[in-house]
Amino acid sequence: MSNVTHLECAKCQKIHTAGEPHGLCMNCGMPLLVRYDLGRIGGMWSPQQLQSRSANLWRYREVLPVEHDRHIVCLGEGFTPLLKANRLGQALGLSELYIKDESFNPTGSFKARGMSVAISMAKELGLRKVAVPSAGNAAGAMAAYAARAGLQAYIFMPDDAPLANKIEATLYGAQITLVKGVITDAARVMAQRKEAEGWFDLSTLKEPYRVEGKKTMGYELAEQFQWELPDVIVYPTGGGTGLIGMWKAFAEMEQMGWIGPHRPRMVCVQSEGCAPIVRAFHSGEEHAAEWSGAATVAAGLRVPRAIGDFIMLRILRESSGHAVAVPDKELLEDVKWLAHQEGIFAAPEGGACVTAARRLTREGWLKSHERVVLFNTGSGLKYLDAGFPAV
Ligand SMILES: *Cc1c(COP(=O)(O)O)cnc(C)c1O
Ligand SMILES: [Zn+2]
Repeated sequence: MSNVTHLECAKCQKIHTAGEPHGLCMNCGMPLLVRYDLGRIGGMWSPQQLQSRSANLWRYREVLPVEHDRHIVCLGEGFTPLLKANRLGQALGLSELYIKDESFNPTGSFKARGMSVAISMAKELGLRKVAVPSAGNAAGAMAAYAARAGLQAYIFMPDDAPLANKIEATLYGAQITLVKGVITDAARVMAQRKEAEGWFDLSTLKEPYRVEGKKTMGYELAEQFQWELPDVIVYPTGGGTGLIGMWKAFAEMEQMGWIGPHRPRMVCVQSEGCAPIVRAFHSGEEHAAEWSGAATVAAGLRVPRAIGDFIMLRILRESSGHAVAVPDKELLEDVKWLAHQEGIFAAPEGGACVTAARRLTREGWLKSHERVVLFNTGSGLKYLDAGFPAV
């Protein structure tokens, strides 16, 4: 019982039929997004009905694409804590600061959300072999869900990806190929082989369902704030599925009558070592040029080119948002600071949000009374090779 009506291209709006495997738009090669019969869903489903549901992202079943429950591949992903950060907030000068702590997800990062839905759909559509290029956490998440679904997983990673990601993906039974370079180089190697091997490509936004998993962060924020969205969301951006997904969730909720037209200002955070979206935002571009020599300890942000760049840039501007690049040295310091202040050992990507929030508060862009949510997208325990002190 899915409520999907069709898939729609984010660029040219061409309609694609649901219920069959799709990659990019057949017309223009851009990402496809899932569309639902939201009028009908809004008439029969309300927030009150969520109370009795299980504490994972499948509580939003009506706006997820799987047709039959038996195809759902769940490891308990989603419904992560939204933690009020009083001590950090006081230090930064923000009285309503929250951390959405995604490190609670299976495999220790929010990549689990996207992979739960994408692998469920792969299973439903009868696919047997799935492949993905990954800068880090997508590898572990994809391998775990593929294992649970009984699918064969093929993963292409930079040879200097975090050790934890290599180990976990191997343990989950995926076949790993290490590639010299960054995620876009890994993607090129994978692309050369995928057709001959019969692999279905699960790259970020190159299939329509990972973003459906990640959009549930938007539903959760609304639910956890009693259906009133925060003023600002600070989000560490790589491929951009989370940013795009949450924005989609807000539109869906408004169409179902769950929330009003108010939207948070969306802030994209990247590392100074790889900041294509930040650069494009400030130079007024519609697309982001590839970043050369991408280097950052925040593996999830080491994405020199994102196919969804134009969607992200549109969202940042539409929301009166911002884009900030921070140096690795500072984001690592802020991992330590966050651990000290709040007892949260964040991924470097999460640390980057703290650095960005401090900067935006100093500049007066964030106001002291505003309700601000920082995303910690993964666990610091997956980055033990980042050089944190042991004693
Ligand atoms: C992948 C990843 C990101 C970037 O996520 P997108 O939604 O693809 O932009 C941020 N943080 C961590 C820990 C990641 O693994
Ligand atoms: Zn198109």
